[in-house]
Amino acid sequence: MKILVPVKRVVDYNVKVRVKADNSGVDLANVKMSMNPFCEIAVEEAVRLKEKGVASEVVVVSIGSNAAQEQLRTALALGADRAVLVESNEELGSLAVAKLLKAVVDKEQPQLVILGKQAIDSDNNQTGQMIAALSGFAQGTFASKVEVNGDSVNVTREIDGGLQTVALKLPAIVTTDLRLNEPRYASLPNIMKAKKKPLDVLTPAALGVSTASSVKVLKVEAPAARSAGIKVKSVAELVEKLKNEAKVI
Ligand code: AMP
Repeated sequence: MKILVPVKRVVDYNVKVRVKADNSGVDLANVKMSMNPFCEIAVEEAVRLKEKGVASEVVVVSIGSNAAQEQLRTALALGADRAVLVESNEELGSLAVAKLLKAVVDKEQPQLVILGKQAIDSDNNQTGQMIAALSGFAQGTFASKVEVNGDSVNVTREIDGGLQTVALKLPAIVTTDLRLNEPRYASLPNIMKAKKKPLDVLTPAALGVSTASSVKVLKVEAPAARSAGIKVKSVAELVEKLKNEAKVI
């Protein structure tokens, strides 16, 4: 079974992001970039399925600038076999990304696509769902457990109020939640080996996909600064403030 794992290059989660002076977006100059944390979980799950003998090949794919090769090499060091970069320097919307990933799905014919539930830069939480709609594959989102049984996969999903388990017929799309697994660190020998693993570069034109967007970002603003908190002297004072100032009880 082949597994395809889309991975996104995003601002590292430790970085305090700054909005550009003209409010056109987030300032990415000299900012540490990393693999989206939910994508790391997706790579880990795919590699574990390969280690268990369930999967035969793990292919990682990223859509973005040439710099995304760095995150693809990281995924290769974590155990993926092969990488594909769909190179584009445009600011792509989710639908364009999903159409490009669908074209890669058509080309690679994976049985399982495992991707993050959400990219921490744009917080869209829609790429997996869009690929499922475009490809007609079954989808199991927000997975906290994934079990492949023959030609189906059981996905335990984190939903409000508990866990739900769905059985999906393969081929299927799974999006990862935080508790699915704890990703490993890449060892130095594996980082060295990853340099020799195959990485193909494609373009949207070669995949026959138009990346025109119907969504335009009008403005990006930093959230209002939070005012400092205060210390209260007693529970009575706290209750009084919650009742009369915050008006929440
Ligand atoms: P989103 O729907 O944008 O929140 O992203 C959800 C997931 O879709 C990410 O965790 C990735 O697995 C995948 N994804 C989104 N954008 C890209 C991209 N440019 N390249 C590869 N995968 C992506």
